[in-house]
Amino acid sequence: MKIEIITIGDELLLGFTTDTNAAYLARELAAHGVEVVRRATVGDDAAAIAAAVREALDRTGAVITTGGLGPTADDLTKPAIAEVFGRRLEIREDIVAMIEERFRVYGFRGPMPASNRQQALVPEGARVLENRHGSAPGIWIEDERHRWVAMLPGVPREMRGMTGDVIIPELRARMGEVREVVRSRTIRCMGISESHLADQLGDRARGVRGLPLAYLPSVAGIDLRLTTRGMSSAAAAALLEEAVAELRPIIGAHIYGEEDADLADVVLQRTRERGLRIAVAESCTGGMLGARLTTIPGSSDVFVGGVIAYDDQVKVKLLGVDPGTLRTHGAVSEETAREMAAGIRRSLGAEIGIAITGVAGPTGGTPEKPVGLVWIAVDVSGRVRANHRIYPGHREEIRQRATQSALDVIRRMLGDA
Ligand code: AMP
Ligand code: MG
Repeated sequence: MKIEIITIGDELLLGFTTDTNAAYLARELAAHGVEVVRRATVGDDAAAIAAAVREALDRTGAVITTGGLGPTADDLTKPAIAEVFGRRLEIREDIVAMIEERFRVYGFRGPMPASNRQQALVPEGARVLENRHGSAPGIWIEDERHRWVAMLPGVPREMRGMTGDVIIPELRARMGEVREVVRSRTIRCMGISESHLADQLGDRARGVRGLPLAYLPSVAGIDLRLTTRGMSSAAAAALLEEAVAELRPIIGAHIYGEEDADLADVVLQRTRERGLRIAVAESCTGGMLGARLTTIPGSSDVFVGGVIAYDDQVKVKLLGVDPGTLRTHGAVSEETAREMAAGIRRSLGAEIGIAITGVAGPTGGTPEKPVGLVWIAVDVSGRVRANHRIYPGHREEIRQRATQSALDVIRRMLGDA
């Protein structure tokens, strides 16, 4: 099955809002064997919406739109598409009642605003798609030649909910049994550069078992993604498993997980398995490492707490860093990082102490200590590993990379499960 996606909204054309709806739909549909062959974006303009829908219907006869179903004057999707199908809009009292009920449940006082009645307008002969996630229902309109448009709300959370609730089941029912799907597996790597990784993969750097390899670098490391197309879901799963099994031993310890694994989660699990606990001393990351760890539910049995030791006085008073060390080597140095890690471990009574100290920029760099220089020290029961890197990027990126690196040092020090 081939379909087209049209996302609607001036904010998308102007670039104020990133079109995440089209990306989400494309991924989700591909996983169910529906191929998105074209994506278009139009503004809140009835003529533009109608023209885009008309063209898409002529090509594929199958269209999903998002946006423009709200209660305000810029929400023109329904009238524009009703016009394309030559249908009138009629008010549906059952939808009015449903929206009124929602207002009551959410505790709004007084009568429903008149503009919400607009959301109860439905092209004649069209089907209403229930929206359990918000007030604007979706619409399915189809002509006698079985050309159809499904209209979904623009709010990403509602659009995602309705895709799962109604769109995927509807399309699956229309497609029958045989299905060729798009499937991916992702291997998450950390602590190796893209080019080193490619070197290490040798013959397999461009692909394995006929599957191309996508290298996706980010502040979280490098994701390697393998994708199959045009296979049944069972065959795809088997081939991907073989390919991943072939790559795993070659990449070895640089792999910290698969799919959407979070390095903080991996670190918490390994630390928990060994019955250890973590304390953090953060300078340039200002609490980011603590935030990464505490984002994971259930972190309290492993994560003790930490100190944001931004000012040198805090490093001295709360972490016991020797003022002489700071004078001689400076706050961003191996010696200070080591003393911070030992200090936080001691004062919070944890087995693992982690320290991060660096120059996040954009100012404060010197020839010896440039912007991006970060020292990380991890002290596991007195066994210390300290290392430094000079990270590229702006302030936020440097802080994110340093945080991810600190987590990776612990992961490696604790070894495989
Ligand atoms: P609408 O349904 O057009 O009233 O859109 C409601 C809100 O959803 C807008 O303010 C946007 O923030 C968001 N939105 C609409 N379309 C998209 C899209 N394609 N991708 C991401 N967000 C969107
Ligand atoms: Mg809009």
